[in-house]
Amino acid sequence: MTTYVHRDINEQKVDLPVGKVVCVGRNYMLHIKELNNEVPEQPLLFMKPSSALCDVAQDIKIPKHLGECHNELEVAVLLKTKLTCASNEEVQAGIWGVGLGLDLTLRDIQSKLKAKGQPWERAKAFDDSCPMSQFIPFDQIDDLRDIKFKLVVNGEVRQDGNTGDMMLSIVDLLVEITKQFTLLPGDIVMTGTPKGVAALNVSEQLNLELPPLLSIKTIIV
Ligand code: ZN
Repeated sequence: MTTYVHRDINEQKVDLPVGKVVCVGRNYMLHIKELNNEVPEQPLLFMKPSSALCDVAQDIKIPKHLGECHNELEVAVLLKTKLTCASNEEVQAGIWGVGLGLDLTLRDIQSKLKAKGQPWERAKAFDDSCPMSQFIPFDQIDDLRDIKFKLVVNGEVRQDGNTGDMMLSIVDLLVEITKQFTLLPGDIVMTGTPKGVAALNVSEQLNLELPPLLSIKTIIV
């Protein structure tokens, strides 16, 4: 486990604590279909602890001998204010910035947990299961509903997403989350993965892109 701090696109530390990560499952229709999941009536929420966070630009250590570990590249939102039962306006005023995170998932373990109706933490919340990029300040994001992002593995595009394809937009998702539990300054929300999840393997080279401001190269070890 490394010591994670939030950083901006100039590699400066963001002066916010490191908190929990709230994740949403099944927010893109084509990803729901690729895993043969049901469309949820409400967003499916789960959390990763702060100990899951690490810097995505460092080597990414995946667990060994625990079955397949899948990529889920997601737009990550860093919060700067406390949000409880927040309105659209309060949510927008509470966003520090936007980055890219990997919701690393031990898929074989998750499938077993799902079949037994058990919680997903063993598959989702392990150390370094949430490699995180730098964050782009919110005022440099043109439109939250049109963020293009991409994961390239060994030169081949594996995930090609746009937040416009979300079932619940980023703002609506944050509003919904804050009805369920309080988001604190320094918390991160992972907004769901588009299709293209697959197993990662040691020595694969990853590029994470959110043009024009984020372009990160990293490697699986
Ligand atoms: Zn995910």
